[in-house]
Amino acid sequence: MSNNLLTVAYIAASALFILSLGGLSDQETARKGNLYGIAGMLIAVVATAIGSINGSGYGILTVAVVPGVVIGAIVASRVAMTSMPELVAILHSFVGMAAVLVGIANYLQPGQPLVGVEETIHKLEIFIGVFIGAVTFTGSVIAFGKLRTIIKSKPLRLPARHFLNLVMLMASVGLGVWFMGVESPDGLMPLLLMTTIASLLGVHLVMAIGGADMPVVISMLNSYSGWAAAAAGFMLSNDLLIITGALVGSSGAILSYIMCRAMNRSFISVILGGFGTSNSSAQSSSQIMGESVSTTVDETVEWLLNAKQVIITPGYGMAVAQAQHSVSEITKQLRKRGVEVRFGIHPVAGRLPGHMNVLLAEANVPYDIVLEMDEINEDFLKTDVVLVIGANDTVNPSAAEDPESPIAGMPVLEVWKAKHVVVMKRSMASGYAGVENPLFYKENTHMLFGDAKKNVDLILNHLQSQEEAIGVSKALATSTAG
Ligand code: NDP
Repeated sequence: MSNNLLTVAYIAASALFILSLGGLSDQETARKGNLYGIAGMLIAVVATAIGSINGSGYGILTVAVVPGVVIGAIVASRVAMTSMPELVAILHSFVGMAAVLVGIANYLQPGQPLVGVEETIHKLEIFIGVFIGAVTFTGSVIAFGKLRTIIKSKPLRLPARHFLNLVMLMASVGLGVWFMGVESPDGLMPLLLMTTIASLLGVHLVMAIGGADMPVVISMLNSYSGWAAAAAGFMLSNDLLIITGALVGSSGAILSYIMCRAMNRSFISVILGGFGTSNSSAQSSSQIMGESVSTTVDETVEWLLNAKQVIITPGYGMAVAQAQHSVSEITKQLRKRGVEVRFGIHPVAGRLPGHMNVLLAEANVPYDIVLEMDEINEDFLKTDVVLVIGANDTVNPSAAEDPESPIAGMPVLEVWKAKHVVVMKRSMASGYAGVENPLFYKENTHMLFGDAKKNVDLILNHLQSQEEAIGVSKALATSTAG
C-alpha cells in the first residue's frame, strides 16, 4: 500500500472514531456510533497490516490475530450486561500489557537506528509508555478482581500509603535517569526494575480505592489505557495509534471528571483512595433507628392505581433480575390508566455508566420519561409512589443526612421525600459500597422482598388481569344494553 493510501485510510479511520464517540453520547444514536467504531477499527487493522507488514510477517500476524478474534468474539457474546465492567477492566489490562511488551521489544530491537535528539526522545517515549502500561495492567487486573468480588471492595489502607506511592514514583524517576544515561541494551535492567515498581504502584493505587469509587476507577483506567496506547503509537511511529490513544485517553478523562462530579468527589481524593468503606460502614442495622416494614404485591398495586405521579428508580438489582421488559410493561399499563410514570436515573446506578439507560432503551421505554437525577430530584416531594427496583446506594439518604456516612456528600435520588416508597429487593443486604441504608427504616418506606423480576411480573399480572376484567364487564354492559 502506498504511503498516500495509508494516510487516507488512517484519516478515514480517525474520522470514524470521532463520529463513533459523537454517536455514543446519545442513546438514540448509540447504535450508529458503534457501527462507526467497528468500521473505523476494521479500516485501521487492515490498513496497518497491509501498510506495515510484508512476507513472513503475515503468517505471524495470522497466528496472533485469529485466536485473539475467536476468543474475543466468544467472550464478548457470552458476557452478561451486569459483568460488562469486568470485561472492560480486563480489556484495559490487555492494552496496558501490550504497551509494556511493545516498549521492551522496541527498546531491544528498534525499527530504525536513531541518533542524537531523536534517540533521546524515543527512549523517553519507551520509558513513559512502559510506565503507564504497567500501572494500567496491574491496576486493571485489581479492578477486575474487585468488580468480580474475588478481591474485597474494602480499601486497603497501608500505613504511610501516600509516602509509599511517592517513594515508588521517585524510584521510577531515578531509574529513568539511569535508563536515559546508558546505551541499548544496558538500559534493560532499569527498564525492567521500573516495570516491576510501576506494576506494584498500579496494584497499590487501585487496592486503596473503596467500593463506591469503582465507577471512577473504571473510567480512569480507561483513560490510562488510552494514554498507554498513544505512547505505544509514539514508539511505533504509528499516527493512527497516537490519535486513537489520545481519543480514548481524553474521553476517559472527561468521563472520570463527570463521574467524580456525580459523586461529589475530587479526582485527587479518588486517586488517593479510601472512600466507600470507612469504619462507620460497619454500622449495623440495629444502630439505625426503627423497624423496617414489609408490604405485599396487592398493596403495592393498590398504591400504584391510586397514584397520580409515580417515579421508578432502577438500580443494579433490576439489571441482575433482567426485569426491564416487565418494568416497561407496567409503565404502559399505568400510563394507560392516566398515571404519570417517570424514571429517575442516578449517574452511577448499575455497574457501568449509562447501564440503566441502555436497559430501559432495550425495553423500549420512551426516552422522554427517563430523566437524570438532577432533572427529577425536586419532583419526589410531589410524587405519590416511588418504586425502587434493585437500587440501594443510589437512594441512600445517609449520603445527604449523615455527615459520618462513608458516602456523605454523594448526591443521591431523594426518594424518601415521596408519599410512599416501595423498595424491591431480596433482603436487607447493603449495596455495592457496603453501607447500611436508613431508607429501609423510614416510616413511608415499605419493603417488597423477593427477586425483582418475580415481583414486577406479579404486579404486571395484577394490572393485566384487572384490565381484562374491566374489558369483560364493559363488553357485558354493551351487550346487555344492546
Ligand atoms: P447497589 O449495588 O447499591 O444495590 C443493588 C441492590 O440490588 C442490592 O442491594 C441487592 O439487594 C439488590 N438486588 C440484587 N439482585 C437482585 C434481584 N435479583 N432482585 C432484586 N434485587 C436485587 O445498586 P445501585 O445501582 O443503587 O448502585 C450502584 C453501585 O455500584 C454504586 O455504589 C456505584 O458506585 C457502584 N458502581 C457503579 C458503577 C457504574 O459505572 N455505574 C461501576 C462500579 C460500581 P439484595 O441482595 O437484598 O437483593
